[in-house]
Amino acid sequence: MVRDALIVKVLQRYYPHWVPPEERGEWTACLCPVHNEHRPSASVSYRRNAFKCHGCGARGDAISIIRKQEGMSYTEAVRYAAELSQGSDPPLRGSTPRKRSRRVFGDTRTASREREGSCRRLPPWRRD
Ligand SMILES: [Zn+2]
Repeated sequence: MVRDALIVKVLQRYYPHWVPPEERGEWTACLCPVHNEHRPSASVSYRRNAFKCHGCGARGDAISIIRKQEGMSYTEAVRYAAELSQGSDPPLRGSTPRKRSRRVFGDTRTASREREGSCRRLPPWRRD
């Protein structure tokens, strides 16, 4: 039950070593995965899908954690959360750039290399 909670999936996605505690009431004390502590100063709520830490101040619900980690809009994060809770494995998007710049100069270089290979149209200073 506990492992099916969205907040568990979200936290374990970014902190794979974090172990969710058994539920004890609405808020359950747990170790904070963010600041790597040895005595629990954080709590997690499986019902609210939320997490808060009194040690380092990290807090948020499942959606806001995804938004922060992935740099997504609210709508994107909701979709991402839905994929996570369905058990699929959406790629981590936070570390990769969304759009790569097009390689404008790559094509030009290829074209000029082809031109060099041909015998025609060699510039005068390159003739034997
Ligand atoms: Zn913390």
